Amino acid sequence: MTISPSLSSIAQRLVRVRAQLPANVRLIAVTKQVSVEAIRAAYAAGQRDFAESRLQEALPKQEQLQDCPDICWHFIGHLQSNKAQKVLEHFPWIHTCDSLKLAQRLDRLAEGLDKIPQICVQVKVLPDPQKYGWSVPELFADLPDLNNCRNLDLCGLMAILPLELSPSEMLSAFQSVRTLGDRINDENYPNLNIQEYSMGMSDDYPLAVQAGATMVRLGRILFGDREN
Ligand SMILES: *Cc1c(COP(=O)(O)O)cnc(C)c1O
Repeated sequence: MTISPSLSSIAQRLVRVRAQLPANVRLIAVTKQVSVEAIRAAYAAGQRDFAESRLQEALPKQEQLQDCPDICWHFIGHLQSNKAQKVLEHFPWIHTCDSLKLAQRLDRLAEGLDKIPQICVQVKVLPDPQKYGWSVPELFADLPDLNNCRNLDLCGLMAILPLELSPSEMLSAFQSVRTLGDRINDENYPNLNIQEYSMGMSDDYPLAVQAGATMVRLGRILFGDREN
C-alpha cells in the first residue's frame, strides 16, 4: 500500500475519466498498491467495480471493506491453480483466464461452490512472449473444450497489448480483439457468447474504447503512479 494521492483528487479524477467514457463502458478501478482509504474515497464518489491482481493483497482489503457489500470485485492477475478456489470465493469476475487447464479447474471448482463466475478469456492478438493468454489459433483449437466448461459464464475477451506499439497499431490490435469475439460468436457454441471486451489501461484506454471496449481497467490515471 504505497500510493496515497490526495483523497479528494481521486473523486475529481473519477469524474473526469468517467466523463470521457461512453455510458455502456464499465470503468473498473484497479487498486493494486492502493490503500483502503483511497478505495473508500473512490467508493464514496460512486465507484463500485474494483480490481486486484494479487490474492494476498486483495483479501485483507476486502476484509476491511466488508461494510461496502455492493463492491463488485474483479480479479485481473495471473491466477495460479492453487489460488483458484479462493479467487472464486472472493471475486465474481475473473478477467485473466489464460489457459484451458485453468478454465477446466475453475469449472470444476465453481461447480463445487455452486457458483457461475463471469470469465474473460485472455487473448494475445499479437505475439507477446512476456504475457499469458491464448494466441488466436490456440484459442480456436480450444473452443470446443471451453464450451464444455458449463459452470463458467464465458462472456468476455480480455487483452493487454505488447509494449511500444504506435497508436495506430494499438487501435488495430484492439479492433482485432473485437473481431475475434464476433468470430467466436459466429461459431455458435451454446456456452460461448462473447459480449464483454476488457481492454484498455491508463495509457491506451481511449483507443480501446474507440475499438469497442466494454470494460476499461484503470489504475494510475485514478490513483496516481505506483512504485513499480
Ligand atoms: C495494473 C493493471 C491495470 C491498470 O494499469 P494502469 O496502467 O495503472 O491503468 C490493468 N490491467 C491489468 C491486468 C493490470 O495488471
